[in-house]
Amino acid sequence: LTKPFDVDELEARLRHALDRQEFLLHYQPKADLATGRVTGVEALLRWQPPGDGLIGPDQFIPALEETGLIVGVGGWVLREACGQMRRWQQDGMRPLQLAVNLSARQLRQPGLVELVAQALAETGLEAHRLEVELTESMLIDDSELVQEALTGLADMGVRIAIDDFGTGHSSLRYLKRFQVDTLKIDRSFVMGTPGDADDSAITAAVIALGQGLGLNVVAEGVETDAQLAFLQARQCHEWQGYLLSRAIGPDAFLRWLSAREASPGSAS
Ligand code: C2E
Ligand code: MG
Ligand code: MG
Repeated sequence: LTKPFDVDELEARLRHALDRQEFLLHYQPKADLATGRVTGVEALLRWQPPGDGLIGPDQFIPALEETGLIVGVGGWVLREACGQMRRWQQDGMRPLQLAVNLSARQLRQPGLVELVAQALAETGLEAHRLEVELTESMLIDDSELVQEALTGLADMGVRIAIDDFGTGHSSLRYLKRFQVDTLKIDRSFVMGTPGDADDSAITAAVIALGQGLGLNVVAEGVETDAQLAFLQARQCHEWQGYLLSRAIGPDAFLRWLSAREASPGSAS
C-alpha cells in the first residue's frame, strides 16, 4: 500500500473488494528440471484498490483470514483460476497443471470439497489438473473436518501439495496420514544453495525425502543458475522462481509461453 492503512481501514476496504472486482490473479510458471518443459502455473492473488498500486498477498491475506473474508475470496480464486485454464485452452494453449493456494480457514470450511467439485464442473477442468497447496501447520490440525476435506479432494483426483515445506511445524506423520503428492521446498532454503552449507543440506534432504516417498518435489524461489544446477544435480523434479518467470497476468503468460516454446534451445 502506498500509504499505510490501519487495520480497521484495511478491513473496511477489503470487505467490498470482492464485489468491486478489485482482485485479480497472476500466474507463475513451474518447469520440469530434467526436460525444461513448463509443467504448470501457480495462481497468486493480487489486489488492485482504486488509486493504489498492485498489492501483494502478504499485505492483505492475514486480514482476509482474520475477518473470514478469505472464504469468499478463496472461492473466487478457485473459480477464476479454473476458468482461466479453460480460456487459455480456447486460445490454443496446451493443457497445464494449475496450483491454487488454500488458507487454513478454507480447509476447515464445511463444503470445501463440493466447492472444488463445482469449480471443476463449471469450467470443465479435469480434477487431476488441479493441485491445492497447503502449509504444514494446516495439517497439524487433526480434526475430522480436515481429514474429510483432504480425503474428499484426493478421492476426486485433485492433487495435494505441501507449500513452504520445512518452515512450519514439521511433522512427517501427516505425510503418511494424508495423500500428499508434492513437496514444495521453501524458498528460504533454496535461496541459500549452493553457498550455504545448512540450506544446501536441508534442500538435498528434502529432495531425498520426496524421492524416497515417491512424491513430486518442487523447488521454489530459484533465482540463479547456480541454484538451478544444484537442484538439477540432486534430481529435484520441478522448479519455480524468478529465473524462470515472475508471476504475470494471464495475457502476458500466454505470450511468454508461446515465445518460450517457439524459440529453439529455450527449453532449459
Ligand atoms: P507461496 O504460495 O509460497 O507463493 C510463492 C511466493 O513466492 C509468491 O509471492 C511468489 O511471487 C514468490 N516468488 C516466486 N519466485 C520467487 C523468487 O525467485 N524469488 C522471490 N524472492 N520470491 C519468489 P506472492 O505472490 O507475494 O505470494 C505470497 C504468498 O501469499 C504465497 O506464498 C501464498 O502463501 C499466499 N497466497 C497467494 N495467493 C493466495 C491465494 O489465492 N490464497 C491464499 N490462501 N494464499 C495465497
Ligand atoms: Mg504456494
Ligand atoms: Mg511457498
